[in-house]
Amino acid sequence: MTPLPSDIEIARDAQLRSPLDVAQDMGIDTAQLEPYGHHVAKVDLSTIDQLADRPQAKYVVVTAVTPTPFGEGKTTTAVGLAQGLAKEGHSPVLALRQPSLGPVFGIKGGAAGGGYSQVVPMEVLNLHLTGDFHAVTAAHDLLAAMVSNHLHHGNELGIHTVEWRRVLDINDRALRAIIEGNGGPMDGVTRQSGFDITAASEVMVILALATSLADLRERLGRIVVGWTKAGEPVTAEDLKAAGAMAVLLRDALKPNLLQTLEGTPALIHTGPFGNIATGNSSVVADRIGSRAGDFLVTEAGFAADMGAERFFNVKCRAAGLTPDAAVVVVTVRALKAHSDRFQVKLGKELPAEMLAEGPADVEAGAPNLRKHLSIIRSFGVQPVVAINAFPTDHDSEHEVIRRIATEEGARVAVSTHVAEGGQGARELARVVAEACEEETSFTPTYELSDPLATKIEKIATGVYGADGVSFEPAARRALEQYTERGYGELPVLIAKTQMSLSHDPNLKGAPTGWTLPIREVRLAAGAGYVYALAGSIMTMPGLSKHPGAERIDLDEQGNVVGLF
Ligand code: ADP
Ligand code: MG
Repeated sequence: MTPLPSDIEIARDAQLRSPLDVAQDMGIDTAQLEPYGHHVAKVDLSTIDQLADRPQAKYVVVTAVTPTPFGEGKTTTAVGLAQGLAKEGHSPVLALRQPSLGPVFGIKGGAAGGGYSQVVPMEVLNLHLTGDFHAVTAAHDLLAAMVSNHLHHGNELGIHTVEWRRVLDINDRALRAIIEGNGGPMDGVTRQSGFDITAASEVMVILALATSLADLRERLGRIVVGWTKAGEPVTAEDLKAAGAMAVLLRDALKPNLLQTLEGTPALIHTGPFGNIATGNSSVVADRIGSRAGDFLVTEAGFAADMGAERFFNVKCRAAGLTPDAAVVVVTVRALKAHSDRFQVKLGKELPAEMLAEGPADVEAGAPNLRKHLSIIRSFGVQPVVAINAFPTDHDSEHEVIRRIATEEGARVAVSTHVAEGGQGARELARVVAEACEEETSFTPTYELSDPLATKIEKIATGVYGADGVSFEPAARRALEQYTERGYGELPVLIAKTQMSLSHDPNLKGAPTGWTLPIREVRLAAGAGYVYALAGSIMTMPGLSKHPGAERIDLDEQGNVVGLF
C-alpha cells in the first residue's frame, strides 16, 4: 500500500470553494456572511431566525470508546461521515470545535481531521482562524484585571477568596501557579494566582453554550469570581465587567464557516476543554447547522462516558436539540489496548506485537465497546459503531468488532475515510441514515431538580459503572453552599481522566467494583454548571522537550511548514 501524502500536502492540493457557494448550499443568504480572507466567513446570528421555517436536520453526534493516548479518530470520522453523507446524495453540515494553539505547538497531530477527511484551509483553522480564542483570552483577562483592580482600590465588595484566574492560549507550565502584585504599593495587591489554557476558560464554555447575544451577556454577568467572608458570591456583574466582556465577544459568538476537503459545509466554533468543560462545539453553530441541511454531524470530545454524556446532559439541554443517533468510533488498536496485554504510551511507537493479526486481543478488549454502547442506549439514542480502519488492521479483527456490535444490537460499518475520503465512508453514511429513521426517546441521566450530589451519583453509577461516590468533606460543604445560594438546579460535570471509564487511567476495559472519589467541587455559574473533580486535572498543559513549535517555520515563499 502506498503511504498517504502528509495532511498538509493533501490540504494544500485541495480545490477550495468560495464560502459564498458553500453558504448557498446551506440556504444561507450572502448578506448573512462576513468574509474573513478568501476561504472563511463568519455567519450572522440572525441566520437562526431566517432558517427557522426550514425542516430540522437529523442530529448526529460522533463519540468513541475509551481511547489510546493517540486518539481513535472522532474528528476524522466526523469529517469523513459528513463527506460520505454528501456522496450518498444528502446535504450534510459539519460542526466542530476550533483547535487550541496549545496542542498545535505542543504535540504534533492534526485537530482538523486527517488524510482525505480534513477541514480546510487547515493552516487558518489551526492558527488564529478569525481570532475568537484571542477574544476569549481578552474577555477573561479583562475580568481578572478588574478583580485585581477592585482589590487594589479598597475592595468595596469585600471579596475574601478569589477563584478567577488568568488564561493564555499557549502551553506554559511555568504559569500554572504565580504570585501577582510583586511590585511596590502601586503595583497591585500581592496574591497567589495562575494561568489556565484559554480552552479551559469559563468564558469559552459560555461562548459555546450561549443561545444569543442577550444570553451571552447574562451568562457573563453570572460568572462568580470569588466569595465574601460570609460566603456570598461576587459576580462579574457586581464588578461591572460583564458589559465590556460582551463587547469583546460580540463577533466571536458568530460561527465560522469553512469546508471539508470535498466542499461540505463545516461550522467551526469555540473550543471548550474536554476535562473541566463541556468539550463540545457551540450551540449557535448547531442551531444554524440544524436548519441548513438534512444532517448535522458534530463531535463530542473524549469518549462516550465524558464527551457524549455532557453533550446529552448539558449541551442538548442548553440547545433545545435532541440527537437522532450517536456514532461510536472504535479502532482495532483501542480494543487491543483494552485487553490489557499491551503498554501504549504517548511519544512511543505502538508495540510491534500489537500490530500483528490478533482477533483474540480485540475480543478481549470488547467489554469497553459494549459498555460505551450501553451508555448511548441509556440516553434513549441509537448507537452506530464506526470501525475507523487503519492500514495495519486485519479483516479478522474487523469481523470481531462487527460481530460484537451486532450482538449489542447496533448498526456497524468499516470506514476508510482517512485513506479514501467520503467515498470510504459511504457504508457508514448509509447505516447512520438508517439509524436516524428509528424512534428515539431521548432521556437525560438526571433531572435538574435532583440534588447536586444525586446528579453526580447518577452519572457515576448510571454512566461510568461505579458502585457509588465518596465525597471529601470539603466537596460536601461546597455542594451545600452552592445549593443554599441558589445553584442547586444546575447540571453537573465530572472532571476525570478520559483514559478509563473510571477515575483511574490504569483500569482498562469496563471496570466494575469501584467507587468514584470526589475531591473537590467548583462552580461555573456563568457557563451554568457545577463541576466535580475526581483526581487531579491539568488545566494548563506544558510543552514536551522537543515541542511541535521547533519544527514549525516559514519557507522562502512565506508558506507555513512543519504544521502536521
Ligand atoms: P480524536 O478526534 O478522537 O481525538 P482524531 O480524529 O483527531 O481523533 O485522530 C487522532 C489522530 O489519529 C490524528 O493524527 C489522525 O490524523 C490520526 N488518524 C485518525 N484516524 C486515522 C486512520 N484511519 N488512519 C490513520 N491515521 C488516523
Ligand atoms: Mg477530535
